Amino acid sequence: MHEYSIVSALVDQVAVAARAHPTGTVKRVHVAIGELAGVELELLATAFETFRDHTVCAQADLVIEPRPACWRCPRCQVELARGAVLRCGACQVPARLVTGDEIILQRVELDLGDDDQGGT
Ligand SMILES: [Zn+2]
Repeated sequence: MHEYSIVSALVDQVAVAARAHPTGTVKRVHVAIGELAGVELELLATAFETFRDHTVCAQADLVIEPRPACWRCPRCQVELARGAVLRCGACQVPARLVTGDEIILQRVELDLGDDDQGGT
């Protein structure tokens, strides 16, 4: 399943990020998913819950931040409204997708144990 390979790649990235804090526990993983990335968010969440056992993410929650697609004119950089014709009215050139197909590991929250007693 597509979502499992995404989760696998994310967990690898989290492991690299967490390596700087060997005693820390990964508590939360924030990932941005573009609406055109071809990812089913529910499947991704399920895949994460299944996959995280025995990884650095075993105690982590996945926080998915959906990103709307955004097109711009490559010439004048004007942002084109969603659902509009994907062509700049002024320049008559096809719009270019600037966000919306990304899968980005945004942030990894670690519980550092002794170093972070007052934190939440
Ligand atoms: Zn333009």
